Amino acid sequence: MSAVIIKSCNNYRVEDLIDIINSGIDLLGGWGKFIRPQMTVLLKVNLIGPKTPDTAAVTHPEFVRAITRILMERKCKVWIGDSSGGAIAGISPTGRSFIVSGLERVAIEEGAKIKNFDKEGVMGIDTSVGKMYLAKPLFEADFIINLPKLKTHSAGIYTGAVKNLFGCIPGLRKAAYHKGAPNPKEFGTVLAAIYESVNVGLHIMDGITAMQGEGPTAGTVYHAEKILLSTDPLALDAVASKMIGINIEDNPIFDAARERKLGEWKSQNIEVEGDYLTPPKLPKFKLPRAFKLRKKVNYGLMVTLIDLLKARPKIDENHCTNCNMCVESCPVYAIDKMTKIINYDKCIECMCCHELCMYNAVKLKREKFIGKVVSKLLKI
Ligand code: SF4
Ligand code: SF4
Repeated sequence: MSAVIIKSCNNYRVEDLIDIINSGIDLLGGWGKFIRPQMTVLLKVNLIGPKTPDTAAVTHPEFVRAITRILMERKCKVWIGDSSGGAIAGISPTGRSFIVSGLERVAIEEGAKIKNFDKEGVMGIDTSVGKMYLAKPLFEADFIINLPKLKTHSAGIYTGAVKNLFGCIPGLRKAAYHKGAPNPKEFGTVLAAIYESVNVGLHIMDGITAMQGEGPTAGTVYHAEKILLSTDPLALDAVASKMIGINIEDNPIFDAARERKLGEWKSQNIEVEGDYLTPPKLPKFKLPRAFKLRKKVNYGLMVTLIDLLKARPKIDENHCTNCNMCVESCPVYAIDKMTKIINYDKCIECMCCHELCMYNAVKLKREKFIGKVVSKLLKI
């Protein structure tokens, strides 16, 4: 049995956050169960790219400030760490992301240390998917708290506690893992391998503002007003998925974690506590189009329609700033640097370009006329 605490919170005022998070931790046994004075605690944030907090793409800096203060008051040292996705001019944008997100400022003001995973060295770990190189601070800290953001994902449907661990892979190495595991089910084996390798003790999800629609960067803000806490990331993701209208069993990104029993996912094995006793449904929360397709048609029909309805990434030159993040992040080099035309013979539809473009210039478009008509009829 795993516990998932859901607390209501409608703002990012630090004093409110401290009270609410502390009351949630009390239900998990209190901070004393997890940390002691002098410990170094690593806060693994979601810093997908250089996005401001109002976009709901990154863990909100005031959320991180509140947890930093709680830990500092308990005489812990605090590290704030992550590695962003993609590349600009051959360099991972993590450093810039820390500045744009406001996390660097929070670290300076609160006396925490920024750990840019791209610059801290790696540890080679033997995992179920082979040798992986993960950021060193993950193995140097005494305790790790995962701080995911509640978001949709255009390819993986939902991104939360388990998916947030992908940032444990430093810099441009992430693209190689995407290339080796292009579909959500295979990608899930990489995530499960990271979870098995990294000792994360606690997961606190920032779901005060969430991202709906075509996340994890191109969606819109949804005021979910929730904080979720658990020691079990799979249980947390099962509950959060339910809140946005998905069954975790219907999301192949979690297949590997479920098969390896990395946590609980069945509702009868999850105790929901806090301000709710069952996962509260988030009204009118918009899911990505890919999931709507799966819901509208049965599997056999879906296989037949999938090519017809397939939405492919296409770069909108009116919004493109030529930053080349997509070009450099594409794991199979399918995007022409000069023209920004995508070579669909090479493209493995990983959606990294859509995920990482900070200017919403990579659109998901249906190529075939009949597909456009069918999608209109199905309202997807
Ligand atoms: S589409 Fe344009 S703006 Fe977006 S990542 Fe690619 S080059 Fe940059
Ligand atoms: S062009 Fe295709 S393969 Fe390259 S990043 Fe975009 S979706 Fe992935």
